[in-house]
Amino acid sequence: MGDRRLLVLDDDPMTGETIQRIAEFAGLEVCFTPDPDRFFDLLHNWHPTHIALDLVMPTMDGMQVMARLAKLSCRAKIIITSGVGSRVLDAAGRSAVEHGLDIAGVLAKPFSPSQLREMLLDHGGAVSSALPAEAPAYLPEITLADLHQALDRQEFVVAYQPKVLCATGELAGVEALVRWVHPSYGLLQPGQFIPLAESCDLIDRLTDQVIDQALAWFGPLCAGATQLSPTTRDRLMLAVNISARTLTNVALFERVQERCQAHRVHPTRLIFELTETSAMDDPVASLDLLTRLRMIGFHLSIDDFGTGFSSMLQLVRLPFSEIKVDKSFVMTAMTSPESRTVVKFIVDLGHSLGLRCTAEGVEDAKTLEYLTNIGCDLAQGYYIARPLTGDDFCLWLASRPS
Ligand code: C2E
Ligand code: CA
Ligand code: CA
Repeated sequence: MGDRRLLVLDDDPMTGETIQRIAEFAGLEVCFTPDPDRFFDLLHNWHPTHIALDLVMPTMDGMQVMARLAKLSCRAKIIITSGVGSRVLDAAGRSAVEHGLDIAGVLAKPFSPSQLREMLLDHGGAVSSALPAEAPAYLPEITLADLHQALDRQEFVVAYQPKVLCATGELAGVEALVRWVHPSYGLLQPGQFIPLAESCDLIDRLTDQVIDQALAWFGPLCAGATQLSPTTRDRLMLAVNISARTLTNVALFERVQERCQAHRVHPTRLIFELTETSAMDDPVASLDLLTRLRMIGFHLSIDDFGTGFSSMLQLVRLPFSEIKVDKSFVMTAMTSPESRTVVKFIVDLGHSLGLRCTAEGVEDAKTLEYLTNIGCDLAQGYYIARPLTGDDFCLWLASRPS
């Protein structure tokens, strides 16, 4: 418990001190400051694991602070507090998630001690045994040369996060999520290197390595996992993230087909998750390629639906088989009526187009129950499991009631 440190930024000393008392009582070390400069100093030197952030302050508002935290790749869990209305708080929470920050919750003032305590509780799963500790909150800048070297040395590893059927909890598939085991900085998350890989034309090499690793793991799993019933094994699918830029690289998908054959994985088992469909370099060529991929049997998913990146136009134009509700709506579904409306709307829209619907970012039982009630097909999120190493995934499987 002693290694949890909460840094509080609030212009109101009364609120700051209240948060401090509650958190100290919950066993955290706490530092409180009303001054943004001092806040960033402490961030660098004291390395908090949690941050409580007031949204409205006179000198620098909470949104600016969050933007700066995102730039610094801050990994601390953030609690947003404020006296503004719940719609504004919700919007701030969603914006933070979109910035890639780890939001523990939004807290409308006045709040009860138990609400705050709940958010300070670490509900994360066990940290994987086979992966190194997470990288520190701040990283020196990653360069193009670093990325080249990492690809040459094959420093990227794949984590697998289960997708389950909402109605029964049975396993339906896994999403492959890349991580970089950096020799000096430890484990780096995709948000820390994918944008650079995309802008420097290295993303296809990375995707190649991810797919190769994932297929080599997934092939034997489908063929041999004794923990799985034959029905589950037949249903299991592997989801891989594909950047918009990759959609002009026909050769890459030809290689994927060859790898599928080599690993005895039928193309219908693979689903490519596409984000930022609106950023496709060449919409016509992409449509051709995606249609061909569907004809071969591969499935396509429109990822992060509901955010500006995956548009309605693309949903109708491209041959998708799955729609993924963005986690920013799912994670706030239980606290925000607006988010629930959006989630249900997307699920209904997906079904009316004949698509399978997956909700990602499912963090608690209530959200899963809600998704089941509105007829969502699949769920993915920390409540079910965090992304796991291949070995930990098998342990997770073995630990579940069959
Ligand atoms: P994504 O495709 O939307 O992946 C889901 C992200 O949400 C993952 O973050 C996952 O760890 C996280 N997540 C899952 N469940 C929960 C939950 O219950 N709560 C919260 N707070 N988060 C949850 P991750 O692994 O950091 O990946 C971030 C993004 O990086 C991915 O978003 C995807 O766009 C990109 N990415 C990951 N792997 C690859 C890859 O191999 N290729 C490409 N092009 N992009 C990748
Ligand atoms: Ca995805
Ligand atoms: Ca997503």
